Amino acid sequence: DIVCFNIENFKLYNDVFGIKSGDRLLCEIADYFRERFAKLRENEIFSRYNADRFMWLREHVCDISEETFQEMDQQINQLPSARNLGIKLGIYQITEPSIPVEQMCDRAVLAVESIKGQYFKNISVYDGKLREKLMHEQAIVDEMASALDQGQFEVYFQPKFSLLDGGLAGAEALVRWNHPQRGLISPVEFIPLFEKNGFIARMDQYIWEKTCSVLKKWRDRQYPRISVSVNVSRADFYYNDLADVLSKMVNRYEISPKELHLEITESAYVENSHQIVDMVSKLKNMGFVIELDDFGSGYSSLNTLSQMVLDVLKLDINFVQAEISKPANESILNFVVELAHWRNLSVVAEGVETYEQLQSLKEAGCDYAQGFYFAHPMPAEEFEKLLMQEMEREDNDDIRKNLDWSRCLLVVDNEDYYRCMIREAYENTYHVLEAEDAPTAIRYLQEHRTEIAAVILNLSLPDNAGFEILEFLNSKKNILKIPVLATGVHDDILEMNAYKNGADDFAGKPFQSYSLKKRIKRLLNASMNHEKERQLKEAAFRDYLTGMLNRRGLHVEVNNISSEDLPVAVYFFDLDNLKEVNDNCGHEAGDQMIQLFAKLLRRSVRRTDILARYGGDEFILIQKKIPSGSYALRKGNEICRNFSKETIGADILAACSAGVALCKENERYIMDSFKRADRALYYAKANYKGGCCLWDETMQE
Ligand code: C2E
Ligand code: CA
Ligand code: CA
Repeated sequence: DIVCFNIENFKLYNDVFGIKSGDRLLCEIADYFRERFAKLRENEIFSRYNADRFMWLREHVCDISEETFQEMDQQINQLPSARNLGIKLGIYQITEPSIPVEQMCDRAVLAVESIKGQYFKNISVYDGKLREKLMHEQAIVDEMASALDQGQFEVYFQPKFSLLDGGLAGAEALVRWNHPQRGLISPVEFIPLFEKNGFIARMDQYIWEKTCSVLKKWRDRQYPRISVSVNVSRADFYYNDLADVLSKMVNRYEISPKELHLEITESAYVENSHQIVDMVSKLKNMGFVIELDDFGSGYSSLNTLSQMVLDVLKLDINFVQAEISKPANESILNFVVELAHWRNLSVVAEGVETYEQLQSLKEAGCDYAQGFYFAHPMPAEEFEKLLMQEMEREDNDDIRKNLDWSRCLLVVDNEDYYRCMIREAYENTYHVLEAEDAPTAIRYLQEHRTEIAAVILNLSLPDNAGFEILEFLNSKKNILKIPVLATGVHDDILEMNAYKNGADDFAGKPFQSYSLKKRIKRLLNASMNHEKERQLKEAAFRDYLTGMLNRRGLHVEVNNISSEDLPVAVYFFDLDNLKEVNDNCGHEAGDQMIQLFAKLLRRSVRRTDILARYGGDEFILIQKKIPSGSYALRKGNEICRNFSKETIGADILAACSAGVALCKENERYIMDSFKRADRALYYAKANYKGGCCLWDETMQE
């Protein structure tokens, strides 16, 4: 046999303890072997092969057992200069005595290298499998250049979603080798090889170029603008002038550098080579968005975080899955996310596979997520379907917020037969909401109240639930008048009570679909006029530029807040530089900035939240049922941070500050929270410009 004996972490040892100690260690190891092999058989040889490798020509009497290895490992680690040395053996059993000795040694080296970094493997024998693997790798290397020329490398896109609003937020470009014989080959098979032999530089350029051309195509087709991340290997820094290559590329495709995110793996930074650090800063200054990929997979993570210029932290799959499965008090996920936010970085979690994982990530405050739970990587054409869906979603959002005309009917009935009748009669013209009891009905009325054209309500529900709903509608009459068609058993008293309690019409059961439709039509016609009136009234409650509530509208809404909504968070936002923008770039740019902020705010909140433009550059957000002050603070900071990533026109940077206060005990004190939030905003402007402050007692009211 030829046995290659390798000290795996010798380079690290040298770096940490110095070359002199390294030399001393090697001498000690040599002495150890000298002693151990003093009784070598005649035809056996022991030698130092190179740096950290020793080679032993050994007569094969029996295999080297794990026990023998452990004993040797222990003895070597007890040498005076030894510090946690990782030792591995690679063995070539001389089956082909005719090949040159050098090649035999190479095979022993290959065997030992094949278990590099594998914690539980200490001994590796060069065998058919290893040989096959090496031949396979050779085949890949032989074919790579022609495969690139023939366009066999393809870009797949994996979507990334915002955890704030569930919207499509971007994609990662991932290479696939579509081999004519072998089908789709995963990048894990060839990327490490390409990184070793430098071909990665050519392949990555090709992938980036393809990605840019797809981005341009999507823009030309007016799909929603999203950014795409591409992977950048460490080797790319050595073979390419990245700044030059990338800037020419985005110019050629007329895309903005901020649409191209660069994912650089954590291990690329670990060596902390100045070349890489300088280049990354340069790329960031040029406007590319820098993502630190695979965070948490290495060991110097937190260090990297404090030293590098970055925009986004991308948590590694294994890190995410491991942290989530730990008990809450042992997980450092929350801490890492907070640290990242404190450094003004967004956080993307990768490898989200289950609903539970998604929930934990939301709770931890992650901003974006990517993973099989949402979608696998897919070809560009398939991804376009997602873009189309996103476009629809945005349109629907606009419609929903536009309060234009109501498109829902709410039917409240515990009898399937009648619900079904109404559903079938109206399913092509209205969205029919169905409820069987009061809580469901009231929830619909709260969530969709501006969209509900009419309510068809069975007053013979158990527990008087029908009248409960009528009462609820009455209590909200001054904000919104929804026509009600009451139904129920034929009964004069019931009918009279229906009218008395505010119903607009009564239909006694049983009734036919035809007569019901007539009644509803009459009801809707009558309310059309009401509706127009309402829209006029609405207009008086809305800010023309953003469509949000104005001060008057806000006061009406605030009066509707009830004790079930507590705790309520009141946020004050203030755009930091609106005046300068108005003065220097004109009011159009100023308006654009206001609208941009309004859009961002809408996307960041839930539909039950209250949004208002309170003055020129002041906005108010009220969120109901907020779990804690720290949640509110996080939310406020998140919105500020997201806004600071926007630009108006070519180069005006957007910025805003915020203050937030919680109203916990009694909704009647909500106006106090307004003052407090204003106070916290003032404090933020003075001390944390561009961020959010939570009110506390130290800031007097
Ligand atoms: P990565 O950058 O960490 O990419 C994420 C990998 O995780 C992708 O594997 C993706 O398919 C996979 N993944 C996504 N969601 C999930 C999930 O929920 N569960 C699990 N288990 N996996 C998930 P893929 O596409 O096989 O790529 C592997 C690696 O190859 C990438 O890891 C990246 O390091 C490298 N790579 C891929 N494309 C390129 C490229 O164009 N250039 C360079 N330099 N490297 C690339
Ligand atoms: Ca990546
Ligand atoms: Ca990754």
